[in-house]
Amino acid sequence: MPQRRLFPPTLPKGGLYVLILRVARPVRVTVGRLGRQDFKPGSYFYVGTAKTPRMPSRLARHFAKTKTVRWHIDYLTELDAVEPVGAVIVAGRTSECALNMEVGRLSGMVTTMPGFGSSDCTRRPRCPAHLWFSAAEINVAAIERHVGSWFFHARQR
Ligand SMILES: [Zn+2]
Repeated sequence: MPQRRLFPPTLPKGGLYVLILRVARPVRVTVGRLGRQDFKPGSYFYVGTAKTPRMPSRLARHFAKTKTVRWHIDYLTELDAVEPVGAVIVAGRTSECALNMEVGRLSGMVTTMPGFGSSDCTRRPRCPAHLWFSAAEINVAAIERHVGSWFFHARQR
């Protein structure tokens, strides 16, 4: 994927990540089998995994507006009202669900969409969702402090 050139060479090539999105205005969108969903303005945090060496192309995909919609998160990231803020990349860990639940325990995080992104969950019971919402300002430092990581800002591309 040509977008790969846009990332710094130090970007980890694989691992867990927390994609951070800002939704500017209320949006209503059909999310596959989850049906019609309302997204409130605020910050959204999506926890995923990219197998080595796919991290750059995965982030490029999340940041792109034009793509073939395949995953739940694509229904959100393709919207004009949804701005990709960046991603916290978590090196040296492999349990996406454990990281997901840690993010969900951060101050102000709530699930607004049960089942979103959690169809591939390895945790039992399944995570409520792999997408978290916070009405508060995005505090990347707090996330980094809690999950130990590397922040990539979407605008640095
Ligand atoms: Zn999970």
